[in-house]
Amino acid sequence: MTTTFKNDLQLLPEVKTFLSRDVLPAIVGGREVMAASGATLATIDPGSGQKLAEIQDLDASEIDRAVDVANAAFPAWAKLSLEERSKILLRLADAVEKHKPIIAQIEALDAGKIEAQAQGDVQNFVDTLRYFVKLSGQVKQRTKLEVEGHEAWTYKQPWGACAFIFPWNFPMLLIGWGISPALAAGNTVVIKPAEDTSLSAIYLAELAKEIGVPDGVINVVTGRGATAGAALANNANIKRMSFTGSPEVGRLVGEACGRNLVPVKLELGGKGAAVVFNDVDVKATAEALVGAITFHSGQVCCDATRWLVQSDIYDEFVAYCVERLKQIRVGHPLDPDSQMGPVVNPKQRQRVLGYLEKGKADGAECVLEGGPAQVDGFTGNYVKPALLAGSLDNVAAREEIFGPVAYLARFKDEAEAIEMANNTDYGLANSVWTEDPIRAARMAESMTAGNSWINAHNVFPQGVPYGGVNKSGLGGGVLSIETLLDYYRNTSIVRPLK
Ligand code: NAD
Repeated sequence: MTTTFKNDLQLLPEVKTFLSRDVLPAIVGGREVMAASGATLATIDPGSGQKLAEIQDLDASEIDRAVDVANAAFPAWAKLSLEERSKILLRLADAVEKHKPIIAQIEALDAGKIEAQAQGDVQNFVDTLRYFVKLSGQVKQRTKLEVEGHEAWTYKQPWGACAFIFPWNFPMLLIGWGISPALAAGNTVVIKPAEDTSLSAIYLAELAKEIGVPDGVINVVTGRGATAGAALANNANIKRMSFTGSPEVGRLVGEACGRNLVPVKLELGGKGAAVVFNDVDVKATAEALVGAITFHSGQVCCDATRWLVQSDIYDEFVAYCVERLKQIRVGHPLDPDSQMGPVVNPKQRQRVLGYLEKGKADGAECVLEGGPAQVDGFTGNYVKPALLAGSLDNVAAREEIFGPVAYLARFKDEAEAIEMANNTDYGLANSVWTEDPIRAARMAESMTAGNSWINAHNVFPQGVPYGGVNKSGLGGGVLSIETLLDYYRNTSIVRPLK
């Protein structure tokens, strides 16, 4: 059942109740925590500009306390049998699935995400948690080593309190990718969501408490990056840090962890290429890339933002993309007719519009104008999809824009395509589009990135490691057995036999 709320949007009664609290707490040790200073931050619906709620703006001492609480909760959580811990985590997965429409609507409102896509993100959280719980049952705690003259084995155990700092583009999905392996291995977690999109994390922590996840196992601290985020990154008592966000902040987090000798994983930005050869179905490929660049308004780290197209199909490909992008319906995330929502905040909107100007000033051809978009009845952060074209030395082809803007360039042959795809500081994800499987595999192996996709973009099956190289990240990845193994520390145990 739905009910009418602000702007005639149909909000679920549970969402209305959640937001009606106006000031939402952080959750530490199963308790509601308010900033002692009384400081709060407003969280805004990017689709309407209206305030959704206030969240706590915690200071460094409050973040440090949350880490202490997570470390204090660790021994009991780690000591649970695999069966007991798995049962609790599967109960959490079931509860999140049951509350999917509520969490998805909160996420859609908070992040400006099309509601159906937000539902997909919440389901992804559930699937990821179930995947890592199952995988943890296959990890051998003791591994015997065959070493001449010695009895030897390795022994795995969890680390303690693990910290997570997340960006605003996929809050629930990234929380799932991040914390699931840590929890399944027996660690406790402290989550710092982005200040623009903290609501789903708060809801999750409250739900975890409700269904019996022990206090202190899942802690959510909110606040500004430069204070709350920096305090978490600089805390010497966290046992691991996982940061997802921009390379600029990633460097700061990496430096802080380096000083404290805390293992750190950085999942950073990208400037992915889609390399389109002349043997493809032009319309189907264009359709797929239009879908990719408009998905969550292009605010996707691994998006195909440089479209490299073989010269002889370039004009046909571009003409079809322009036609399709013009038809994209921009609208409020809760409007079922919307195909693309707003960008997350006015600053991000300005960033997107600014790159269009900077790209043109740097010599790019404007293939599809883009610019601000008007949505009837809503003053949100809306922009239209845009296409630029020209030299890959252009600022809009080199830097991450994080909006619905793709940059087009032509290539002659495979050698030139590889050179162009690799002409970037980033290394997150590229795709190659061709009917020739041999060429596809060759290209996929020649592009310098953590991920190469064939005839698809944005593909994340569980079991396939996903991570970045160069400016796109370091220290591991997500979604695979390696991710889980990172959340156990190894002790090598040796006894000489004579
Ligand atoms: P951001 O780096 O500005 O912020 C990310 C998080 O860091 C937020 O929670 C923020 O509060 C916090 N933060 C800010 N300053 C901090 C500081 N000094 N110390 C510690 N924490 C601090 O990134 P964003 O704008 O939220 O997200 C967009 C970026 O995230 C893009 O570059 C995008 O490509 C990247 N991203 C990468 C992946 C991936 O898997 N590789 C996934 C999603 C997003």
